[in-house]
Amino acid sequence: MPTHRHYNTIILGAGTMGAAAAYHLARRNSPPLVLEQFELCHDRGSSHGRSRVIRKAYFEDPRYVPLLHAAYENWRELERESGQKLLHLVGCLNIGPPDHVAIKGVIESVRRHNLPHELLTAAEIKKRWPIFNANEFDVGLYEPDGGFVVPEVCIRTHANLATKHGATIHTDEQVLEWSVTLTGVLVKTTTATYESEKLILTAGPWLPQIAADLNLPLKVERQVQTWFMPKNPAPFTAPNMPSFIHFVEGDAYYGIPMRENEGVKVARHHAGEITTPETVNRSLTPADESNVRAYTAKYLPAANVPIIDAKICLYTNTPDDHFIIDRHPQHENVVIAGGFSGHGFKFAPIVGSILADLTLDGRTRRPIDFLSLNRFSV
Ligand SMILES: Cc1cc2nc3c(=O)[nH]c(=O)nc-3n(C[C@H](O)[C@H](O)[C@H](O)COP(=O)(O)OP(=O)(O)OC[C@H]3O[C@@H](n4cnc5c(N)ncnc54)[C@H](O)[C@@H]3O)c2cc1C
Repeated sequence: MPTHRHYNTIILGAGTMGAAAAYHLARRNSPPLVLEQFELCHDRGSSHGRSRVIRKAYFEDPRYVPLLHAAYENWRELERESGQKLLHLVGCLNIGPPDHVAIKGVIESVRRHNLPHELLTAAEIKKRWPIFNANEFDVGLYEPDGGFVVPEVCIRTHANLATKHGATIHTDEQVLEWSVTLTGVLVKTTTATYESEKLILTAGPWLPQIAADLNLPLKVERQVQTWFMPKNPAPFTAPNMPSFIHFVEGDAYYGIPMRENEGVKVARHHAGEITTPETVNRSLTPADESNVRAYTAKYLPAANVPIIDAKICLYTNTPDDHFIIDRHPQHENVVIAGGFSGHGFKFAPIVGSILADLTLDGRTRRPIDFLSLNRFSV
């Protein structure tokens, strides 16, 4: 097996985080080698499905908001450099009971960080967007700066510009193993062996096996994305419809307005089976369909029509649903980003920038202490 040339940095995995890290490293004159086991924008990991909600009113934790401000800046910078529209700021509506922990979290984030928003009653939601049937005592927090991004376009944009700035991306090349040596890192793939000084692990749902030495407390969860084609598409198309997240009866469902003839996307957040990328059932089951229909029938009735498409995707969850962005505890030249717990996409460019910081400088000025590995006993 030939040993190819020496690289400053190798990135393992070209999903959204790996592509973003490649772009930031290449822009800082340290172009990496990126190794991806499949084709770019494949549909077996976590980054496919034509849309991802983007928002700053963050119910998960207000500590993410400064990172979101930076991510939005980065998305805009990427738009300027590429000439490609990435941010579709059609608004994001959070709906749910006022005493729901997520609604309280959204309100805490907008107040603490002074984010533009409107607080609405269920009747006001119905008047403004007749497609939504909120429960009588639900409230709505509408964030005009929310919306969606198209993941495949974002990944290609990062990857294309990374390549333009000197990065090398090898697709269809699986990393079989990596090890730390006296001089750096040795990475063996299906076709070659490489040496580098630094290694970034952005393996998404494959992270548990690629960082098996750490025995990370990660759980990979099956997620179903479904698209419905309403008889009258206009109310389901931006600007008539915002992205939304609805907290109902111990569950959360979200939706994204139609683009072209793709249908309106409706999906359930969390509550999927724990699985692995190798064993997951990648077909829509009758139980999947009846679950999402129970939601649309009650809360989005005009979208309770035939499903025109479905895609299975994977979350990689940490026990507290917060990300992991840190250096490997035993190897300071290995940097890890994973466990994005179903809400990482919107952060991709700032995660890429932080990974470049950690790789090149060993530290970052970004507030990521709460995402460190030392909160787990690894
Ligand atoms: C259904 C669904 C809906 C979501 N909705 C949202 C949302 O609305 N908003 C939001 O912000 N986030 C959302 N997320 C989360 C977000 O999409 C993920 O956090 C993000 O895509 C994770 O990206 P990643 O680069 O870590 O993983 P991935 O995209 O899976 O990338 C990992 C890559 O590593 C490669 N790889 C792994 N092992 C190897 C190996 N041995 N050799 C070579 N390559 C390897 C894989 O092939 C893969 O391409 C959602 C996720 C899902 C599944």
